[in-house]
Amino acid sequence: MALSLTLDSRDEATIVKEDGPDGFSAETIFKAATGCQGLTYDDVILMPGHISFSAEDIDLESYVTKNIKLKTPLVSSPMDTVTEAAMAIQMALHGGLGVIHYNMPIAEQAANVREVKRYKNGFIMDPLCFTKDHTVQDVRDMKAQQSFSGIPITEDGKIGSKLFGIVTRRDIDFIADPSVKLSEVMTKKMVTATEPVGLEEANALLKTSKKGKLPVINAEGNLVALISRTDLIKNRDFPLATKDDNKQLRCGAAIGTRPEDRNRLAALAEAGVDVIVIDSSQGDSMYQHEMVKFIKSTYPAIDVVGGNVVTARQAANLIKSGVDALRVGMGVGSICTTQEVCAVGRAQASAVYNTSRISRKLGVPVWADGGIAATGHIVKALAMGAGVVMMGSMLAGTEEAPGEYFFQEGVRLKRYRGMGSIEAMSKGSEKRYFASGAKVKVAQGVSGAVVDKGSLRKYLPYLITGLRHGIQDVGMRSTAEMHEALADGTLRLELRSPAAQREGGVHSLHSFEKRSM
Ligand code: 5GP
Repeated sequence: MALSLTLDSRDEATIVKEDGPDGFSAETIFKAATGCQGLTYDDVILMPGHISFSAEDIDLESYVTKNIKLKTPLVSSPMDTVTEAAMAIQMALHGGLGVIHYNMPIAEQAANVREVKRYKNGFIMDPLCFTKDHTVQDVRDMKAQQSFSGIPITEDGKIGSKLFGIVTRRDIDFIADPSVKLSEVMTKKMVTATEPVGLEEANALLKTSKKGKLPVINAEGNLVALISRTDLIKNRDFPLATKDDNKQLRCGAAIGTRPEDRNRLAALAEAGVDVIVIDSSQGDSMYQHEMVKFIKSTYPAIDVVGGNVVTARQAANLIKSGVDALRVGMGVGSICTTQEVCAVGRAQASAVYNTSRISRKLGVPVWADGGIAATGHIVKALAMGAGVVMMGSMLAGTEEAPGEYFFQEGVRLKRYRGMGSIEAMSKGSEKRYFASGAKVKVAQGVSGAVVDKGSLRKYLPYLITGLRHGIQDVGMRSTAEMHEALADGTLRLELRSPAAQREGGVHSLHSFEKRSM
């Protein structure tokens, strides 16, 4: 039988109009097709679109709060096995954002924020220093523990005080008497840079001076930073970095809703925090509403993220109280037992879709928090309307996550625990679960371990590239275009039956090795 139609006689728009598009709109999937069920990322699959651009051309820029945009829509969770300064620095350098946890004393959390804000790529902001009265033996003792190529000598042996000289290996190598004071051997004639100095300028100075270390001083001659030649060689530029108007990395920090959290807030504000996340497993509470109002009226320059919520009604309540973004997810984290223990929560794709439908109209971005176990989940979270994705287990196990590696049955692991686990709560995080002062603590999380993922310097580019490939396959050029398509129904999806989910994973093999990078 001859075909009555040749394929090229109809353009794409006509085919879609006459035959109907493949898949279904998100509205149909989430409102009509599911009966009364909640759906999560693995329940749905995105229909591919037409690709006429490279993955590199995709614009991942997205609002993380009403006022702040990220070039990479990834945020690290405020958990004590995930985000302290090292994690927040790498997240911000790669265009994302880190939220420092608050399971530590106020001063320590503020110091973490300060470390992120003061971080300058290639600049050592906390170099080891000695005083003039330290001895050659002190340097040799230090050398036994860590390598060094130049130690600044300052008035009080710390950064921030007057710089007198620098001691290098060449200054002490042939000194026989170890009790000789550094004032006698240090190099006083130094090449220094005076702040403000950029990396490029510093690089040029290091090149011409041929020195290993370049001290940076202020107008008063006090040491403010040290630049190392080896670090400079290693350091590359981070064009995506999340920075404020002063070109400092942006940093988030979490607090609770108790009256004493106002002191924590004051210290964080003083340290220069950009985004405050009010950490609660059920965010639609009067305590949180009061805290949001307090922050917005006392520190109007700080953006506030409220949560966690999972329904449109909860989202509307928090938006009304003034939040600049919503954290969405309840009982879906990898370490979480809330749905089991409290019988409350929601499947994450439904939570993200239903909250972002209302928040999008009001210009408040949604953070899809928890349940991300693969790059495909990040793509789906954004496709369901999230502005950014918050991750715990995906980032735990990296070098930059707090904690030491250990081996178990030959596998290199790091601890990862829920903030509602007994272990974390006994350190202070019970506030998140309204359990402060309670005679009996009911855990809503577990403590476990995750495998070593190496450094974020390699791992984040892997996540970002995976995300780009996903959005490219959907045929979208940006997260913004995907959100438009979600709203107008041109983004198409299908539900996956249990058999389809099995088919979509690795199957029918005798054995295989799963390596992600
Ligand atoms: P993951 O990315 O590991 O799947 O989930 C991380 C998220 O789980 C966190 O950002 C936080 O919202 C949530 N979470 C962290 N600790 C706990 C816990 O102990 N219990 C519950 N219910 N949720 C937790």
